[in-house]
Amino acid sequence: MLTIQDIFKSFKHPLTKEREDLINKAYEFATFAHQGQQRKSGDDYIQHSLATAKILAKMGMRSKTITAALLHDVPEDTFVTLKEIEDKFGKEIATMVDGITKLGKIKLRGSQKEYFIENLRKMFLAMAADIRVVIIKLADRLTNMKTLQYLPPEKQQRIANETMIVFVPIANRLGIGEIKGQLEDLSFRYLDPENYIKVKDLIAEEYKGMEKYINLAIRDLKKELENNGIKVIDIYGRSKHIYRLFLKLKRHDMNLSAIYDLMAVRIIVPEISDCYETLGIVHKKYRPMVGRIKDYVSLPKPNGYQSIHTTIFGPEGKILEVQIRTQKMNDEAEFGIAAHWIYGEKEHKRLKKYFTRKKKRIIKELKWVKQLHEWQNEIGSDDEEFLEGLRIDFFKNHIFAFTPKGDIIDLPEESTTVDFAYSIHSDIGNRINGARINGKIVPINYQIKNGDVVEIMFSKEKRKPNRDWLKFVKTSVAKSHIKRELKK
Ligand code: MN
Repeated sequence: MLTIQDIFKSFKHPLTKEREDLINKAYEFATFAHQGQQRKSGDDYIQHSLATAKILAKMGMRSKTITAALLHDVPEDTFVTLKEIEDKFGKEIATMVDGITKLGKIKLRGSQKEYFIENLRKMFLAMAADIRVVIIKLADRLTNMKTLQYLPPEKQQRIANETMIVFVPIANRLGIGEIKGQLEDLSFRYLDPENYIKVKDLIAEEYKGMEKYINLAIRDLKKELENNGIKVIDIYGRSKHIYRLFLKLKRHDMNLSAIYDLMAVRIIVPEISDCYETLGIVHKKYRPMVGRIKDYVSLPKPNGYQSIHTTIFGPEGKILEVQIRTQKMNDEAEFGIAAHWIYGEKEHKRLKKYFTRKKKRIIKELKWVKQLHEWQNEIGSDDEEFLEGLRIDFFKNHIFAFTPKGDIIDLPEESTTVDFAYSIHSDIGNRINGARINGKIVPINYQIKNGDVVEIMFSKEKRKPNRDWLKFVKTSVAKSHIKRELKK
């Protein structure tokens, strides 16, 4: 059972008296309001509020967000009104709580596509108003997913499906990798239990031997780095999220030995320059695998992800993936946009400025949020107008397309099926030999339209991309992969 002390323990900021009082007050108020209510698990309702708050505290969110999280189900589920919350906690917190309540009123209807756009629309609205609302909503969803076993099967399916379609893409867009990974794994468990168990069984044996090996590798790597004067802030093994592993296994005929990053060693160092120095030291000691060095530090992924990945023949000659990054990159990879709250007032101010002022390159990866915000300011909240605005302004430079399974892939406009293939995986890009759009076969230079369901056909054997593709692909990911592959 969680207590409010667990929240304080997870809190990443100096806990002033004022902050502590605010959080305590919210806790007491919520406990009182939810009194007598129980979750389906049999727990007191406040356990759900505490669990949500704890996730946020661990992400580095600040006291007002934690306060709103503790109160998030109060107006929805109790006799207490929003007005009372505003009187007690002020307008800012009440507005956040209201936003969460409104987001909770999402109902499933229409086709998957309509459903997705409808939900996205609500999320975007809330996000543009206050991004903290969406972050709380994600934490709320995660705690609900963790207790899904207590709900009837029908509800489990609906909620897991909604999580995959709506919340996973949003966590991804906000760069909150840690929540995204957990949401995917939990949904996967309910949506495709057969494969979930299959993957779990497949790795159970593998992991046993691996853990020992990882510990050995960590010890050797650490010693080597420290002997070379690198300050290692942290070094640990990380295992791949189950759902991501499943997707990868599917591309390799469920052959586990083709997966090199089942477990990886992650090295956290102080500065960017240390990342490259570390890479050099690691490669000097252990031979790197050709074509497996990925420098996402100088070339971040579209969602802002930064890290250096390399695959080496580690201790005992075994293949091992090593990931090198700074603490800040690590926090940003796990907590995404929320990491900006960790990096103190200065960063917070920077973010605020970023949301309110037109500036060219402040946080490049969050450009779309800014766009959204600007456009939200320009148009009213009228529904018709909203949809029109969504189409014209936001979707202008973005296409949302679907995999046959309903995963959402977003691409710049005029992207082709080849771009789509590369955005799923470089291997699929290289092997593409055809595509179906909404069930119909199209040429691979077909330009994808919003809402298209794209099915990529690819050959089983390794193939090289075609030079001509460079003439029509739009994304830099596709371009760089094609060029790199052709050089080989
Ligand atoms: Mn809730």
